[in-house]
Amino acid sequence: MKHACVIGAGIGGLALAIRLQAAGVPTTLIEAAAQPGGTCSGLMRDGFTFDSAPAAINDADGLRALWALSGRALEHDLELLPIEPYTRFCWPDGTVFEASPDRAEVLAAIARINPADVAGYEELGRMVASIRSDGQARLGSAALLEWRGMARSVPALLRHQAWRALDDMLDRHVASEKLRHALGYPVLRIGGNPLTLPTLLALGLARDPFARVAWPKGGSDALAAAMLAEFTRLGGVVRLGEAVTRIATLGTRVTGVETESGWTAHFDAVCGGIDAMHMYRELLADNPRGRSMAKWLGRKTYSPAQFVVHFGLSGAWPGIAHRTVLFGPRHQGWLSDLFDHGVLQQDLCIELHHPSLTDPSVAPEGMSAFSAVVPVPNLGRLPVDWARIGPVLERRVIEEIGRRLIPDLESRIVARFQHTPDDAARDWNSHLGSAHGLAPGLLQSGALRPHNRDPVIENLYLVGPDTHPGAGLPSVLAGAELTATMMIEQLL
Ligand SMILES: Cc1cc2nc3c(=O)[nH]c(=O)nc-3n(C[C@H](O)[C@H](O)[C@H](O)COP(=O)(O)OP(=O)(O)OC[C@H]3O[C@@H](n4cnc5c(N)ncnc54)[C@H](O)[C@@H]3O)c2cc1C
Repeated sequence: MKHACVIGAGIGGLALAIRLQAAGVPTTLIEAAAQPGGTCSGLMRDGFTFDSAPAAINDADGLRALWALSGRALEHDLELLPIEPYTRFCWPDGTVFEASPDRAEVLAAIARINPADVAGYEELGRMVASIRSDGQARLGSAALLEWRGMARSVPALLRHQAWRALDDMLDRHVASEKLRHALGYPVLRIGGNPLTLPTLLALGLARDPFARVAWPKGGSDALAAAMLAEFTRLGGVVRLGEAVTRIATLGTRVTGVETESGWTAHFDAVCGGIDAMHMYRELLADNPRGRSMAKWLGRKTYSPAQFVVHFGLSGAWPGIAHRTVLFGPRHQGWLSDLFDHGVLQQDLCIELHHPSLTDPSVAPEGMSAFSAVVPVPNLGRLPVDWARIGPVLERRVIEEIGRRLIPDLESRIVARFQHTPDDAARDWNSHLGSAHGLAPGLLQSGALRPHNRDPVIENLYLVGPDTHPGAGLPSVLAGAELTATMMIEQLL
């Protein structure tokens, strides 16, 4: 029997490990941290459960597919609570737009901002549906891993002009700047720039703002624990709190792994559910392929980092939605500062999560849990000392939320801490502290991204944001399915 090893118990590694084990490949999952989840794990402080990456699940079907492999229902292990409205978008002048599951409500909300945009929005919807059915079906498939597969998506790109940036596409249908900001926002959530990301890729990687979202009761921690339980129930072996320090190779084959405690084991295939640069540069440092890939990856563009302020408040805040996006006064300039200039902007765009509204179990009785996520340039674009900058930015984030939502915020805070790009680099080995790994883009997609199966080391694989199709929960789950198919083919 051939054995597989998956390094990293983030959502990507967990999903892959479940698939391998369910297919009959004995699998060992090794995780550096003491708990599973990676960027999607729980942070317990002062009776609150905060999420490292606030887990609004936008692909419950992708998770259900994992449970279906063992004939069990996801809902048996995890309670999914509806989040409504999906997202509330707010601008400094007081304008509010809510992405809701109800189409009539959305059209009414658009009409309140600009009645003329209702027709444009409907037209845009038809075009998106057509791009999705025509070009994007190919985008999520393994075919894109080869050049010929990529070439097959070209006619769809041309027909719909889907090579044009998402922002251009929105501009041709929607006159209101504010609506364009809201409709393009999901791209930012997966590390893309709506001003430059081609429409076909944007639609393939990001869910639209009206895609159903749910909250796992108990938060990310409960999601990761349920996935780990599913894996062990299938017979998988887990080693938590054990960082892999070396992937052993012989010529162009992986032979096993070594961990920091000195534990070693032989495996017939190894998959990194970890940052690609970390895998090639550190874990494969003694193989020429590791060194050449690290050089190649060093020339690539990485997505922004995230600065997160977690805070607990006394009292209940029923008027503040589960997810609120507080846009700042600038849009194009703000995005250029973030993606191109590496400037820590004076004006902030804050995604405020309020999970205790949906799930009171994440906060002590009579209190509320909040996490404010602020996109910031990654450490390559902005190499600052976050130990110095962090407290300053945290103060500005709290002041902005206080000014726009909760006037006496400071006096109500009972717990508060931050997670900076430096922390992401240290806690998850994320290259440049980036939140979503390699930035999405035409020149960093499909065959131009690190492959799910290394083309040189034949039994080495990759899963997660740095490989095809890319970042975000739905893409990482889809990537785990692709990688699993290749591994199962090789191992069974
Ligand atoms: C702040 C933030 C907000 C986000 N918001 C959203 C969102 O709204 N929507 C969305 O879809 N996505 C979002 N994401 C992205 C999403 O969380 C990730 O794409 C996804 O969780 C990545 O999962 P992964 O398993 O591939 O990687 P990771 O979560 O990075 O997991 C990698 C794991 O590998 C472990 N590891 C690293 N090195 C080693 C080693 N040497 N040995 C053993 N273990 C190792 C790490 O400890 C970690 O557990 C967000 C991410 C962040 C950081």
